[in-house]
Amino acid sequence: MAHSFTFMGTAAGCGVPSFFCDCPACTEARENPAVRRGDCGVMIRGEKTLVIDTPPDARHQLMREGIRSVDEILFTHAHYDHIGGLGEYEYLVQLVHKRPMPTYGSEAALQGILAEFHYMDYCLDTHVLAPFDTHEFDGVRYTALPVTHAPGTFGYLIETPNTRLFYASDTGKLPPETAERVCGCDVLAMDATFWKRNWSPDAHHSVQECIEEGLALDAKTVYLTHLCMHYDEPITVVELEEYLKQYEGRVRLAFDGLTFEI
Ligand SMILES: [Zn+2]
Ligand SMILES: [Zn+2]
Ligand SMILES: [Zn+2]
Repeated sequence: MAHSFTFMGTAAGCGVPSFFCDCPACTEARENPAVRRGDCGVMIRGEKTLVIDTPPDARHQLMREGIRSVDEILFTHAHYDHIGGLGEYEYLVQLVHKRPMPTYGSEAALQGILAEFHYMDYCLDTHVLAPFDTHEFDGVRYTALPVTHAPGTFGYLIETPNTRLFYASDTGKLPPETAERVCGCDVLAMDATFWKRNWSPDAHHSVQECIEEGLALDAKTVYLTHLCMHYDEPITVVELEEYLKQYEGRVRLAFDGLTFEI
């Protein structure tokens, strides 16, 4: 059974364009919808559909992909840009599934989510994952790996018979045990929040740091995601694509809706 992997959203925090911003990156995104970015999440589809995170744009992202149902949710952590759209799932549970949604994450992430969405506890069937725990779903193995971000944040190693993919939307330099586990993966989709200056090296990568770490880990393909494009010096997609040419296709930009087989 083939599976597909889709970037549902690829922005850090406030999205591109941000409603309050007129920088070159936001201007580019206003003019060209193909480079607009909503907050970060991904979807893995086989016979069933699993999403990692429920960003504030979840409803629009699901409609854009023509998704009618989601069967499970995995969470990386409980920051707003990754959980803000969970409320959209209440109606799927209430009106369609009529049973709680299987929901996985670290103890800290699930506690944070239940505190923010206390009125939804009846529709979440929560399961705590400890670091390095494995969860099998629809023929795919998910391993929760600790990353460098808020306490209890996970990246997920996603393994099918064909592909080893590591998704870590929010992380600074990977902890050694995680780096060891993901070394040599086929696809590394990782935090590349900042262009140039990294304001929070303990929680995020810059584009350059993401590329350096990805190549050092010997990933066959590195996707840059959780892109801010304008927290510091703004950079447009046109400029960033030009910069990435030196990597001859091994390092790529993630885009909202970008899908490939895994
Ligand atoms: Zn901007
Ligand atoms: Zn975060
Ligand atoms: Zn984030």
